[in-house]
Amino acid sequence: MRIEQDLKLDFKDVLIRPKRSTLSSRSEVDISREYTFLHSGRKYRGVPIVAANMDVTGTFEMATALDKQMLATALHKHYDDDALVAHFSALPDNATRFYSMGIGAADMAKFRRVMERAGPAIKSVCIDVANGYTKAFVDFIHSLREAYPALTIMAGNVVTGEMTEELVLGGADIVKVGIGPGSVCTTRKMTGVGYPQLSAIIECADAAHGLGGLICADGGCTTPGDVAKAFGGGADFVMLGGMLAGHDECGGQLEEVDGVRKMRFYGMSSRIAMQKYAGGVAEYRASEGKEVLIDYRGPVENTLQDLLGGVRSACTYVGARKLKELSKRTTFIRVSQQLNEVFG
Ligand code: 5GP
Repeated sequence: MRIEQDLKLDFKDVLIRPKRSTLSSRSEVDISREYTFLHSGRKYRGVPIVAANMDVTGTFEMATALDKQMLATALHKHYDDDALVAHFSALPDNATRFYSMGIGAADMAKFRRVMERAGPAIKSVCIDVANGYTKAFVDFIHSLREAYPALTIMAGNVVTGEMTEELVLGGADIVKVGIGPGSVCTTRKMTGVGYPQLSAIIECADAAHGLGGLICADGGCTTPGDVAKAFGGGADFVMLGGMLAGHDECGGQLEEVDGVRKMRFYGMSSRIAMQKYAGGVAEYRASEGKEVLIDYRGPVENTLQDLLGGVRSACTYVGARKLKELSKRTTFIRVSQQLNEVFG
């Protein structure tokens, strides 16, 4: 047994130090980014925030709403072939959509079928496993890269530099980072395994960037400030589940509890998700997720305005005219308290 003594940080442990700048308004800030992906060679331009491939957030309706602001969506994997083919075939040019799958034989068979029919319309995939440290996962990425050289591959999840390097070298354009930070994830409780998310982002971004790869910070953002910290720490994309839940576009049923309208949100390996997909989800996440009832929040548009406004404002505070400059201009300061909670 070994103990690593280095302190690892979460979003709650830091704030971003303000810096002098010549920017006078957050409207001057450009929060879009342009990337050319390492392996696929494809070009990307957009606001690099991605709706998680959970069945509540990775919906067609969410994707259409996010397109308007140039955000991306990782579709959940439970749509049938016909629905996916129709959706991908009708995609506008500038929309960023990830087709999601696990690494099982059924996942691959379905992907081949959908690819045959939707063909070039599918440009990006998200290969999603709970534990990105297995040989089977790495082998899968290798063979997918070999079979589809022009496909942009996002793959995860991992939380350490050496595994990020292995995935980038093995064919991933974007490595998805995060084990245990999710709002409806119980991995840390059930297994004791995890890694504070901000440190995971900083370390994995450093590893990926050294090889020309990118990372997507996945999980744990609860406020626009957390999203700004993720970008400040070096994330190239940020994936959101809980922050996008509870909206019209989530497709869940509205429920009324004591006169308050609520919507259900749950992890993709929670009991409710397993029941819904009858065993189809059991292989998706090794550990359990939980189910929560959250306040209904109306159309996602309002939430997006807050989210993007917050990130823009963070850029203004450190003098970053473009989102690209945010991490270069970020100095994190460690804090013991970041919010005044007197009014709850
Ligand atoms: P959030 O933005 O809600 O904090 O985190 C979203 C992320 O949580 C997802 O993208 C996914 O990686 C992770 N996640 C979703 N469902 C589950 C689950 O049931 N169990 C675990 N361990 N993680 C989950």
